[in-house]
Amino acid sequence: MVLKNYKITLKAATRDVEVTRMYPEFMMELPANERGIHELDATTCIGCGSCARICPNGCIEMVPYKYGNPLKNKKMVFPQIDFGRCMFCGLCVDDCPVSCLKMGKKVTIAGWNREDIILGPEKIAVNKFSDKEVADLAAEAARIAAEKKAAAAAAAKAKAEKAKAEKANAAKAEGGDEPKKNNKAKAKGDEA
Ligand code: SF4
Ligand code: SF4
Repeated sequence: MVLKNYKITLKAATRDVEVTRMYPEFMMELPANERGIHELDATTCIGCGSCARICPNGCIEMVPYKYGNPLKNKKMVFPQIDFGRCMFCGLCVDDCPVSCLKMGKKVTIAGWNREDIILGPEKIAVNKFSDKEVADLAAEAARIAAEKKAAAAAAAKAKAEKAKAEKANAAKAEGGDEPKKNNKAKAKGDEA
């Protein structure tokens, strides 16, 4: 048995077989479908909260973050993940309707406090807008909202005017019927 062990050691030494790695300096190559720490594309997240609802461990909370797209994400809320509770099942990723949440290949996470391993969008976002882009998008969102508001006000005004005109027409028609009614009554009186 001792000789057998020496044989293995010699084999590893002479054939340059890698038996240990100098972790963390050298990380092994992870498979393409590795389920590591989540990566968020904040530019496409719509803030729907599906990821938070589907999570079986309740580790996702939707929190505000300003580097997303206010045109698509009206409330500007994004997922924050508690990795102290996450079991890396990937359900949140599967349920995302716009595929902006992915399982990344980073697998190391540590901290001194419980809060250190709760990562918000500022930590998991791998794609986000700049301050200038956000300001432009917010201005566009405000313009669209103002247009919608004006259109709704105009529609309400038109509806009110139509109702008023209909009421006036009905009153007019009733007024026109009055003489006819009087004539009929008079005719009945004459017959009697
Ligand atoms: S990977 Fe699973 S446990 Fe982790 S946040 Fe997503 S749904 Fe929750
Ligand atoms: S990450 Fe996906 S599922 Fe979660 S809020 Fe954003 S769009 Fe919705």
